[in-house]
Amino acid sequence: MDRRTVLGMLAGTVWAGGATGLGKGVFVLPDLGSTSTALVTGDGLFLVDSGMVEQVGDLERETRALGARIGVLFNTHWHFDHTGGNVRVGTGGARILAHENVRRRLSETTRIDFYKRTDRALPAVGRPGEVFGADGGVMTFGGERIRYVHYPVAHTDGDGTAHFENADVLCVGDLFFNGMYPFVDYSTGGSLAGMIRAVEGLARVAGAGTRIVPGHGPVGSRAELLAFGEMLAGVRERVTGLMKGGRSLRGVKEGRPTREFDGRWGGGFFNGEEFVEMIYRGERGR
Ligand SMILES: [Zn+2]
Repeated sequence: MDRRTVLGMLAGTVWAGGATGLGKGVFVLPDLGSTSTALVTGDGLFLVDSGMVEQVGDLERETRALGARIGVLFNTHWHFDHTGGNVRVGTGGARILAHENVRRRLSETTRIDFYKRTDRALPAVGRPGEVFGADGGVMTFGGERIRYVHYPVAHTDGDGTAHFENADVLCVGDLFFNGMYPFVDYSTGGSLAGMIRAVEGLARVAGAGTRIVPGHGPVGSRAELLAFGEMLAGVRERVTGLMKGGRSLRGVKEGRPTREFDGRWGGGFFNGEEFVEMIYRGERGR
């Protein structure tokens, strides 16, 4: 690769493959079952999330096109659609970093009740070798400062965000589904109230110009994140209100608690009824 191409890539203006440049060396990769972000530097590539195992070939092709070797992989949480490339990336020699609960989940058989899905432990090479706790941390990589923060009891019990501070790109994993109702994994320590708190915390970190990379959906803004948080709070208030009245799941659905939100948020993984059912079962099981 010639010097001009390298400089162009570092500036986020020249690249091969299907990634979208956000500037200052940050790229969002084409969908791999979830959204992965790459920071390309002269010291290698810092990758956030590794997609689904079925798309590991795409991950390799895209990162190769960016022309830098993966030095660090950061996992925003343990779910299969964010850690499917971990074994391949770890085998390639990258360090893997995540919240300590991600390592724990990836080290044992884990069940997601809502999807009736069971995931076996990953081989050790695909698990985070470096973990952080409640206090998060900061790393300098290729001249960029990357701050990572843990948000407890939210989408899962191990959600971590990575903020490229100089580029002002905030990778938040599944704490944010941009434009659609989210999955909340009550089976592994998530809760809707915790998701709402996490969004409030993210809104304090993000500025008006921050690009926020969600786990699913297009790159968003602080305003879009706030709209997502308002929707979550509105749905929670209505569903828990109907539940306090002692209604069955059917009765809660008949109350149509998502009516005003379905137009904007009900066209993704879940429609309004499915989202209500997930919240109802999750809240009742707590
Ligand atoms: Zn997830």
